[in-house]
Parts: sequence; structure tokens; C-alpha cells
Amino acid sequence: MSKKRISVKTVFSRHLRGIRIWQKYDSQLLPSLLLSRLFSGVTPFAADWLSAPILNALAAHAEAAQVWRLVALTLGVTAALAGATAALNRWHEARMDGYWYINEKILADKHADMDFADADSQRVADMAAQIRQNTNWSGCGLLRVLQITQRLIGAFATTLCGLALSLRLFLLPVPEGSLSFLGSPLFALLLLAFMAAAAFASGRLANYAENAWLSFAADARFGNRVYSAYSWSSGERRDLDIRIYRQERITQHYMRQDNTFSESSPFAARMRGKLGLALAAPQGIGALVSGAIYLFVCLKAWAGAFPIGSATQYIGAVTGVFTGASALIVELAAMRANAAFLAENFEYLDLPNSMYQGSLTTEKRADRNYTVEFRGVSFKYPGSEAYALRDVNISFRVGSRLAVVGMNGSGKTTFIKLLCRLYDPTEGEILLNGIDIRKYRYDEYMDIFSIVFQDFSLFALPLGENVAASAQYDRARAEDCLQKAGFAERLADMPAGLDTYLYKELDKDGVEVSGGEAQKIAIARALYKDAPFIVLDEPTAALDPIAEAEIYSRFNEIAGDKTAIYISHRLSSCKFCDGIAVFDGGKIVQQGSHEELLADADGKYAELWMAQAQYYVK
Ligand code: ADP
Repeated sequence: MSKKRISVKTVFSRHLRGIRIWQKYDSQLLPSLLLSRLFSGVTPFAADWLSAPILNALAAHAEAAQVWRLVALTLGVTAALAGATAALNRWHEARMDGYWYINEKILADKHADMDFADADSQRVADMAAQIRQNTNWSGCGLLRVLQITQRLIGAFATTLCGLALSLRLFLLPVPEGSLSFLGSPLFALLLLAFMAAAAFASGRLANYAENAWLSFAADARFGNRVYSAYSWSSGERRDLDIRIYRQERITQHYMRQDNTFSESSPFAARMRGKLGLALAAPQGIGALVSGAIYLFVCLKAWAGAFPIGSATQYIGAVTGVFTGASALIVELAAMRANAAFLAENFEYLDLPNSMYQGSLTTEKRADRNYTVEFRGVSFKYPGSEAYALRDVNISFRVGSRLAVVGMNGSGKTTFIKLLCRLYDPTEGEILLNGIDIRKYRYDEYMDIFSIVFQDFSLFALPLGENVAASAQYDRARAEDCLQKAGFAERLADMPAGLDTYLYKELDKDGVEVSGGEAQKIAIARALYKDAPFIVLDEPTAALDPIAEAEIYSRFNEIAGDKTAIYISHRLSSCKFCDGIAVFDGGKIVQQGSHEELLADADGKYAELWMAQAQYYVK
């Protein structure tokens, strides 16, 4: 975060933008905030203001009927105000219940919307981690916008009401006598100046403490990470390791380190010294000012400027001016501090989508007649100097079976990521039916692919919804796909069939599926999408080579007229394919059928084949 001083205009415009973002996500949040803070600010004055005439009437021995009338009026108005305030506060609290999730949703929406290359990058992950860190540490960033707005509105209401109601106190003359100087405007100005100075001093002290706290944000990152790693996330899975390796010792070691949260940290040392004093001092100043206000108001009443019953009302009013003004100073400075954190939020939210968005439609062809061609495609991952793919030339037609083989790291997955346009090539082009894929509408282009990635994920939702990737779906089709994927027997065992929850996060009767079963569900999901291209990217890496070969050849049957691309570093799984592309070091070094490739005894394919043959010879 830069230490440059931010202009007042920028401070306000960033907060206004923050307010607009909240408004977009919850249109009731701000109205509820505004009204509840206004009413909460005004209500306390009403009781003071209305009860003063009662005290004065009593002191003047007024008639009972007059006192009753005043009491009824006071009770009625304060009860109505208190009721309205409570209702508004409840409304506002209910809206605020979701604010933490909205804050997360703002980040999640942006993440889902950005170019995959950015979503996938370490730089963007670090930016998001830093924003969350700011929120965890001090609520800074977008969350703070709400808190500051709340407090600013409350402080404004209190200051303005206080000023309006105390005006008469300062203007009322004091009858001739030793205390008549209390009635002079000069004295009133003096008192106001004293209060302003005190409000300013306590505001500055509070800000000093606040800034000192915030300046630890960067240092606190390590402390926070240690805590979240060792305290919050030691769930069931880690318990095993913790017990076997007695990892609590390493936990204790790091907990004792001089990190932000330990007693011996530099932060704790400052907290005991100057910082602690700065936090406590505003309370002392507040007490001094209160004393001065009491003295002034009571002496003025005693000198005969107004009846004694009005003293409470004036004390409340002047105290309101002081507390409101102090809070305003504190919040304005909090805004300045928060503006720097907001810059990090906005930098993230403003990450541009630089991927070209084409407008051609992919023509949902009934004949599924698609041809894909990679023409001179090279690719480097963003921020990487090395080519992950180099001059790849290949074309495949609809209905064919293409195998992509090669050792780990040879570029197979990268090839698929480019094919489905998660990344654009650094050089060269990929053509669909002769047209650069960048020219197609991205959402439509995505529609023609079903991919089972190696690290696919399923949701803790009902089985059928996972297969259909939708809450509303065709049950017969989902069952058919599960059956084709080899899941029929397991489905028959499921307590609630397609409605059975996977895993137990959302339903205690949910079922835990094994890795192999999950993979079948993922394949069923790919079939349900019914896209013309279907890609299996080593989803079977956890299985032994023979089981993988079985799944692949089975899949060959169920893929039907679709174009299927199989990726594997195991050659035997793919020998049934029409075409095999052998990747090595990011290049396609050989292309052909199994027999053709094997015939080249010096080729990469033959080399890999011989190395792996031992697995398949029974
Ligand atoms: P394969 O699927 O054949 O195992 P990959 O396509 O995953 O190989 O990887 C090809 C090369 O690209 C490897 O050198 C790998 O380290 C690199 N690579 C893969 N993903 C990324 C990434 N997100 N950022 C940078 N480099 C990557």
C-alpha cells in the first residue's frame, strides 16, 4: 500500500464508489442504515428536551393537570420515537446480517467474471488474499465503508441536533450579578472553542491509535496466517497427521514466535506504552469536557438564566455537540486511512478483461460437423519465459478419437486449455471450421466442449444436480448418463436415488463417494452436457493403468458420434484411437496411429511404449 497522502476528493470518491457497490448488491442496506442512524441520533435528545418542561412545572408547583399533560406528551412522543428507532435498527441489523457474505460475493463475482488467465494467476490470488487480509485484520476496505457511513450519519445527526438545541443556552442572558459574565457571547465562544479544541485533540489521539493499529496490517499477515493455519483449519483431515507426527509441537513453536499476536511482539510493547495512552486519553478528555459543560450549565441556571429543570436538556444538547464533533473528526480520518485499503479493492475489481470477445455464433450444427485446427500455435503462461507449447500443428475432425500422450509436463493439459480458450495462444491460431476461435462468442464456444479435468470437482449437492450442473434437470437423461458412465449399480444403492446428497456438508444423510465413483459422476456430467467435443484429461490418474485402459475403451463406446480427446501419459490406454499425438517438451513430436508410431523404432512413442510395456504384460 502506498504511503502517499490521498487527496480529500479521492477519499470521498472512493467511499462513494464503495457505497454504490453496496447499494447494487443490496438496495435496502443503505436506506435502512440512513434511517436507523438518523433516528438513533435524534431520539435521545427528544427525551431530554421533553422532560425539561415537566421538571420546570414541578419546580414551579404547577397544576397537576398541566403536569399530566406534559407527562403524557413526553411519554407518547418518546415511546413512538423509541419504537420507530427499534424497528429501524432491527431492519438495518437484518440487512447487515448478510454483509460479510456480500463482501465475499463481490470478490467471487469478479473472480468468475475475469479472464481465466487472470483468475488462474498467482498475482491475482495474492491480490485477493491481501484484500481478505485487510478485512480480517481491521475490517478495512469495503466493509469499513459501511461502518464509516453508519458512524458519520450518526455523528452528523448528533452534532446538528445538539447545536440546534443548545443555541438558546448560549444566547440566554444572565441577570445582573457576579455570574453575569456567563451570559456574554464571548464566554460562550470561549467555551465552544475549548470544546472544539478538546474534540480535535481526542479525535487526533484516536486517529493516531487507529493508524498505529492499521500500520501493522502488513506485519500482521504472517501472524494471521499462522493462526488460520494452526488454529482454525486443523479439521478432521489434518488431525491424523497432527497425531502421528505430534505436529502440535511445531504449532506451539510458531504460536510463541514474536508475531503480532504474542505478548512479546513489538505491537504489544507499543500497546503498553504510547499507543495505550493514546487510546485511553480521549476518555479523560471527554470527562474533562463533561465537567466543564455541567459547571457552565448549572452555574447559568443557578444565576437565573433559565429554570433548573432545563439544565438536563442543555447538558444533553451540549454534550451531543461535543461527542458528535469528536466522532466526526475520528470518522473523517478513518475515511482517509480506509481510502488506501479501498484502492486495493478497486484495483482488483477494475482488473480489465483483455481477452478478445468475438461475436460469431458457433452454429449449433445438427450434423455436429466441426473441424478444429491448431496452426503454428505456441504458448507461454503469463509471467513465464518458457514455452509450454511450441509450434503445435494438428487438426482433427468431428467423430474422430484423438489421443494426446506424453510424459508429465509435456504440454498435454495446456493444449486442452488452449483448445477450449481458457488461454489464447501467444503465437499462431486455433481454427474452428476455418475461423479463428477468438472470433466466436465465448459463451457459445464453451458450449461445444465437455471436459473431465484431472482435478474435477463436485458440489455437496444432490447427485442429479451434479450430473446436470443445474437444479432443474431431465431425470431420465441424468440416469441414462450415470448408467453409461458405469454408475448404475451404485445409483441403485443410493438412499434417495438422484436426490441423494453427495458428501455430508449440507445433509447428514449425504453419501461419501470414492475417488473412482466421483470420477464416474464427472464423466456422467460430461455426457449430460451432450457437447460435440468431449475431453478426458487424465481423470483416471489415481487408477492403475489397466483400470484406466478399461475406462477409456468403455468411454470410446459411449462417446458415440462425438469427437473425443483422450489425454494420458499411459500409452496403452489410448492405442484404440484413430490418431495419436505424442507431446514432448511442448511440441508434437509424432502423429499417427498406434501401429504407425510403433513402427518408428527410434521415435518417442516407441521409447515410451517400451518403458511402459512392463505394466501390461501379464
Ligand atoms: P502435462 O499436462 O503434459 O502434464 P502441462 O500442460 O500441465 O503438462 O504443463 C506443460 C508445462 O507448462 C509444464 O512445464 C508446466 O510446468 C507448465 N505450466 C503448467 N501450468 C502452468 C501455469 N499455470 N503457469 C505456468 N506454467 C505452467
